[in-house]
Amino acid sequence: MRLRKDPLAEEKLRNSENYVENPERYRGRWHEYFGNNNPVHIEIGSGKGGFIIALALKNPDINYIAFEKALTVLAKLVRKIPEEGLKNLAVVSSDAKLLNEIFGEGEIEKLYLNFSDPWPKKRHAKRRLTSKGFLDLYEKVLKDGSLLEFKTDNRAFFDFTVEELKNSRFEIKKITYDLYSSDLLEGNIPTEYEIKFHELGVPINKLIAQLKK
Ligand code: SAH
Repeated sequence: MRLRKDPLAEEKLRNSENYVENPERYRGRWHEYFGNNNPVHIEIGSGKGGFIIALALKNPDINYIAFEKALTVLAKLVRKIPEEGLKNLAVVSSDAKLLNEIFGEGEIEKLYLNFSDPWPKKRHAKRRLTSKGFLDLYEKVLKDGSLLEFKTDNRAFFDFTVEELKNSRFEIKKITYDLYSSDLLEGNIPTEYEIKFHELGVPINKLIAQLKK
């Protein structure tokens, strides 16, 4: 999905109470945006948002940020937010490479990456959201001890991620190559992509890594 101007989608987003325009202005003070000191968790590449909305409903004492670069998908995400509102969810439209400009050091306490674009060609490896350059960015904005949770259907991308993590400050704590026959399934919230792949019989890979600064 490419980042492109979509005036209609932008208008829909602006009408949502959860949408945060110019998110850089909250850098280092997201607690002011949420109006409390609860921990902030982020999903990068939220897509249509089923996952993060379900999490936000389940855990009112955690602040969630749906971070997604494609405006058209975000417009679909905000439509799913229940009418009575969701105070602990912020919707941000930006590119992961700008994370540092939007979040201060250690400001986030958990990161979810679900079915990120695999960028299968070797020459595009740097665009993968689990490549060294991105892991370095995550290390800055995440607090020491934070967890990174990653799910993908793509085994090659998963293996690549395991290797990149070995050369980083993240330590893999749990791993499965078949989520649906693993004990990691307990409490699992499936994403839109996950539902599709699982129905097709594709095994889902998942890992949980912890940041040790
Ligand atoms: N997590 C969702 C969507 C997966 S598709 C699900 O599991 O159903 C991957 C999503 O990541 C797309 O919506 C794409 O627009 C977004 N994305 C890809 N690269 C990104 C980047 N650099 N910054 C922010 N979002 C990105």
